[in-house]
Amino acid sequence: MVKSIIWFRNDLRVSDNAVINYCIENKRKVLPIYIYDPFTSLGSASKWWLKQSLISLDKSLKGSLALFEGEPNKVLLDLVNNHGIKEILWNARYLKDDINQDNDIKNIVKNHDVNCITFHSCLLKNPQNTLKKDATPFKVYTPFYKQQYQDMTYELFNYNTEEIDFIDCKYNEQISKILDSTIKTEKWHQKLLSEWTPGEAGAQKKLKVFLSDGLNGYSEGRNRPDKQHTSMLSAHIRFGEISIREIAKSVEKIKTEDAEVFYKELVWREFSYHLLYHFPHLVDTNLQKKFDNFKWLDNQDHLKSWQKGMTGYPIIDAGMRQLYETGYMHNRVRMIVGSFLVKNLLIHWKYGQEWFWDTLVDADIASNSASWQWVAGTGADAAPYFRIFNPVTQSKKFDPDGDYIRKYVPELKNIPNKYIHLPSELDDKSLIEYGVKLGSDYPYPIVDLSITRERALSAFKKLSKSTS
Ligand SMILES: Cc1cc2nc3c(=O)[nH]c(=O)nc-3n(C[C@H](O)[C@H](O)[C@H](O)COP(=O)(O)OP(=O)(O)OC[C@H]3O[C@@H](n4cnc5c(N)ncnc54)[C@H](O)[C@@H]3O)c2cc1C
Repeated sequence: MVKSIIWFRNDLRVSDNAVINYCIENKRKVLPIYIYDPFTSLGSASKWWLKQSLISLDKSLKGSLALFEGEPNKVLLDLVNNHGIKEILWNARYLKDDINQDNDIKNIVKNHDVNCITFHSCLLKNPQNTLKKDATPFKVYTPFYKQQYQDMTYELFNYNTEEIDFIDCKYNEQISKILDSTIKTEKWHQKLLSEWTPGEAGAQKKLKVFLSDGLNGYSEGRNRPDKQHTSMLSAHIRFGEISIREIAKSVEKIKTEDAEVFYKELVWREFSYHLLYHFPHLVDTNLQKKFDNFKWLDNQDHLKSWQKGMTGYPIIDAGMRQLYETGYMHNRVRMIVGSFLVKNLLIHWKYGQEWFWDTLVDADIASNSASWQWVAGTGADAAPYFRIFNPVTQSKKFDPDGDYIRKYVPELKNIPNKYIHLPSELDDKSLIEYGVKLGSDYPYPIVDLSITRERALSAFKKLSKSTS
């Protein structure tokens, strides 16, 4: 019987997984493994999530998941040599470095008579196959959606996971013993435990709750951070704990605007991967070259105030504190805090991208990079640079009663709705009445919105002139 390694990476689930389907259909004897490479730059919230997710996957695999630490090619070669492995199976990743690594491994093990097979279970479509009719990549979302995804229907793999046939070996018992010493996490992650249940069961529950309580009203409600209308599935999707096909399929027969808008959000993720695959420099370079000459400011005090949620703009501070407390931030607020950092503070988007990378449980190389370039106006199909969100107007519109602000900025909880979006509009006497002293309990705004807006617009105009 052929012995195969299932190499789990961004697909930490047993259901609707092309690799597992192949093993069952072809009666493979399998060694499921995860390789933790300490040189990959996972953010600290992601490390915490990964650890919980591996414990959950190990349970789904009846304690058969083997965890290794080190360079994947060395680990795999060792296993090939010691266990008579003939196949290494994995689901594709789409970052250039990952693709290069996979190709290197294929070349190395080929000499040992081992076959590597790549499947596609992390996206709805392989980005290699989502080109325009003229065989070039899309740069604009709407035609990408219309031509590639609009009328898609999805089939799921149907197999009995009881039929997975594991190789019995010494690694099977190790995971819980070595996880703590392999993936180091920090103390502040303890609080994430009360917010999230990483793993397949947690993901399935989130989908169920969303379909019954969140989907109805999603198209409008998804913009409201004070309401629970979004699925909160992003970290589960990022780690592949639930199949993206399964999510798409769960709404494919619901013919409502809400279901369509939700499906389109899933396709935004596909679009981010499409951009990442075809423009790999998206991760660290402006897609619009003219921004390479942009004069960003290097103000560390402003950056720190932004990171800590101490800017004096309550919606920004609520978002940044939600992020630090829960490892998550509502999408609308991600756009507002992003615009504030890049446009009002004129700080390079890469600092925002880095902070999100470290603190988001759903930190995803494609969605994070593409979204930051979108917010900054430097990306492919991006918000134009001159569109600058006003955080106070946005706050009044999307958190009208200040519930979201009060939850994460409790020092403002007694301020009436009318003023909660900008408490510095109140005089000192009224502020004292509401229990807030600006400058000590809560900061004065760190910048003036209209001055910084004009500054950004004029910097942009200069850039346009110098490059036209
Ligand atoms: C500056 C910035 C950075 C971001 N960084 C990330 C990131 O690192 N990882 C990440 O998954 N999302 C990122 N997003 C996109 C979006 O904010 C999150 O996917 C969403 O808030 C997750 O919440 P949810 O699962 O409840 O979303 P829902 O509204 O329920 O959407 C369902 C799923 O669709 C996908 N999705 C939704 N919106 C987007 C989008 N704009 N781009 C790509 N995929 C989307 C996600 O997988 C999400 O789980 C970022 C957005 C911005 C503006």
